[in-house]
Order: sequence, then C-alpha cells, then structure tokens
Amino acid sequence: MEDMHIHLKKGVTDISIMQKYVEKCKEMKLNKVLFLDHGNRMSPKHTPVLNKPKVINKFFENIKIVKENNPDIEINAGIESDFSYDEKFKNKECKIIKSYPFDYVIGSVHGMEKADYMNYLQANIDMIETYPINIIGHLKLRKDYEQYKEKIEEIVKLATEKNLMFDINTSDRSRWNIQQLEYMLNLFKKYGTKYTLGSDAHNIDEIGYHMKEEYIKINKILNRAERDIEYTVVSRGTEKAGSKGYIGITKIENDKRLLVLSKHFDKYIDTYKDSFEIPSQYTIENIAISRFELMGAITIKPILDIIQDNILIIGLGNVGFTTMLYLLENKYKNISIKTNKAEIYQIKAIDKLNKEYNSNIKFVDNYNSDYDTYIEATGSSKVIENIVETAQNLSKIILLGVPREEKYLINPLDINRKNLIFVGGHELNGHSIEQRKRIFEELLKINSKKDFKSFVNVYYAKKGIIEKILDYKENFIEVIKYDL
Ligand SMILES: [Zn+2]
Ligand SMILES: [Zn+2]
Repeated sequence: MEDMHIHLKKGVTDISIMQKYVEKCKEMKLNKVLFLDHGNRMSPKHTPVLNKPKVINKFFENIKIVKENNPDIEINAGIESDFSYDEKFKNKECKIIKSYPFDYVIGSVHGMEKADYMNYLQANIDMIETYPINIIGHLKLRKDYEQYKEKIEEIVKLATEKNLMFDINTSDRSRWNIQQLEYMLNLFKKYGTKYTLGSDAHNIDEIGYHMKEEYIKINKILNRAERDIEYTVVSRGTEKAGSKGYIGITKIENDKRLLVLSKHFDKYIDTYKDSFEIPSQYTIENIAISRFELMGAITIKPILDIIQDNILIIGLGNVGFTTMLYLLENKYKNISIKTNKAEIYQIKAIDKLNKEYNSNIKFVDNYNSDYDTYIEATGSSKVIENIVETAQNLSKIILLGVPREEKYLINPLDINRKNLIFVGGHELNGHSIEQRKRIFEELLKINSKKDFKSFVNVYYAKKGIIEKILDYKENFIEVIKYDL
C-alpha cells in the first residue's frame, strides 16, 4: 500500500518528527510514501513551507538520512505546488520545482472549486499545460459533476498525454464517492491513465487514512466484483430533500449483513462510517422497520416514564409510523394520528395494529389541547407552531421531524407560560454509535417476533423506480432489492 500525499509540516526540517512519520507509515503497513509540503501559497491565510532554499535543503538532507535508516520502505521527496494565473507567483514556484530533485511534484488548484466550477476545471487544464508537475492533486468532483463530464474527460485525456498521474485523494475533504470513483477509474482505463493514492495527511494521525478501504473499493470496481449492497431503503423525507438514499444493506457474508450509508444503485460500500452489523437471521422487513424505529426510540426511550398514554403523532411517514410501533410495543394504546389525508393503506394498517395490540389508534383532523404528548414527525414549522399554540400546560413536545425550512417561529411566551417540555431528537446528534447500536439490536430482537410484511414494500431495482416510489405512495416503508 502506498500513501503518496503526506504533509510533513514541522517534520520538513525536524528530523525526529520525520522519523516518527516514517514509523507511523510502517505501522499503517505502507511500503511506498511521498513526503511533501506546500511551496508558496496563493492565499495569505496559508503559510508557505517549502519556499526558501534553507528549508528545502534541510528537507532533502533529512530525507536522505531517513531513507538510509529505513531501507524497508520507499520514501520519496515531493512538493505540492499551488496553481496560479499570477505570472510572478507562477515563475517563482516553477523555479523552485526545477531547482531541486523532487521525486514527485503535485500540482493543485486550491480554493477555486467553490466559486465557479467550470473555471476551476479550466484552471486544472491550464496547470497541466504550464506547470512542470507529475501528479494532479485532489481534483475536486462536485455533487453535480455529471454536468461537467466533457471537461473532466478533457482533463484526463490531456493529463495522460503529458504523462501526468492523478492523486486519488482519500481525505474527507477531497475523497470521491463511489460513483465518482467508478467514473474516474473508467476514464483512467479508457485513456491508460496512471494514478497515485494519497491521504493528504496534515498531521501524523491522518497518515494512511481511509487507504485500505480505498484499495478495496478500487479493486472491486476494476475487477467488476459482485455487488456488496443487496437492498437500499427509501427514506421519503431524505429523498425529497435531494439526497439519493442513504441506507444500504449488504448481502449476507460470514453470517451477517452490514447496514451502511449508501446511495441507491451503489454496488459497493462507500464508507463504513455509522455502519451497523446485523446477524443474518433478521428479515429485510425487520431491518428496515427497526432502522427507522431507532430514530424515534432513541429520543423517546429515556423519557418513557413521563409520557402518559394520550399522544398525538403528527405525520405518518417512516418516522411517524415506526415511532407509533415503538409506543405500541411500550404499552401505549391511546394514540391519535394527524396526517394530511389518511390513505386507504394507512387506515388498513391502523386497523390491523389496533386488533393486534388491542389499542385505540385513531385519525384526527384537528389539533387540540387534550393530549399529554405531541410527537412532531414532519419537520414543518407550521406544525410546530400549531402544537405550541394548542398544547396545554406541561405538555411534552417531541420533535422528530428534520427541520428543512429556514424560519421557525415559536412564541417564547407560550413556552414560558405553559411550561412546555421540548425534547429534540436527531439520532446522529448526542448519541454515541455504541448507544445507537445497542438500541438498534434491541429493536431487531423485539421486531423479530412480529410480522411486518404488510408494512414494507420491496421493489426490484430498475430505472426510474425511485421516482415512481416517491410519486405513488404505496406503503409505509419501501425497500429496493438489487439482483446479485
Ligand atoms: Zn492541496
Ligand atoms: Zn495536500
């Protein structure tokens, strides 16, 4: 494994730091590394490192020593040069590059991608044409990169003609997602382009960051390996807010599945961040229900003692519905539901649950002050406003919907005079991964005794399926299955 983008900072001139970096590289099982730092910087906010002969000479002296002392690892000396259209800056920088025996020179366009992406891409082309570099540093791909495919292809083609390589950057700032990685690797294959992998570490702990995972992903893509992800779960709220899913469920391997962050139609795992392990015995229906139920459960569990059996849930999407299941499971029976319009499938589902739990769930049209607890599962500011207005003294208001609007108006007098209790609950904030895993496992166990088939729809993956699901609301929770 290599890491061809490691910033040394003080380690440039301090040999004891440099030696520590080498040890860390070995610890991370790297056998080829590129130590470097920035030359002159375009932005006055950044400090230049390799820009004076005294510093650069010392850097090469130290590199020579650590190379001699560590023959078991290939250590290269490099520089990351800022691209600039400023002739004076450019000449100064190119002079540094040409005056020293750098093994590799990374050229990077910094800070331009945010303003005008087309200009940023053009700057990369101009850099390829005019800078004496070997590697193009962290080419940033925006979310909407597909609109710029022609320009990106032009960059790859030109770079390859000039015998330049691409830095596949694994830092959180510049890492390509799985679709982008697949797209770029296909281009590299088409043109015969070479690439390096680099963590862009700016401190010792970041050396080799995400490198193993990146190698695995690259290998899978290049070898057209079987897909990892067998199902993705559709989250209506998230999808409508512009994201293309986020819950993926892998195929069973070694008697377990993984629940990972993943977009629809992703073949391979993009990141293991926030992933859960799921024993193979649990059904997809159970996993999908439990995953959504976790969002409500994690907020409500600690306050179950103070919630009385007289609850209004507003919104019957995935979160509202699974929170209701959680309440039923915890012996609550008097639950009212307010939703825009109760659909037939929803009425049927509630009938079924009322029989099963001997409960009294009913649809209501209006807000009123009869409830002990209000559960907001829409994220709408209007709903919150209505609740606050109508709730009586000492009511509990649990906010589970993700707010997606800009302005929220809650009158502090209402809260002050009525002594309302607000509980906010976003699963990812304030709850450790261990805590979330523990509750998720509890839910899986409880739900394995239930038959949730009628609450979960499984669709086979095909073109346009997401749009169709979002258009025709057919069930509470939708899952897309990919043929393996
Ligand atoms: Zn950079
Ligand atoms: Zn860098």
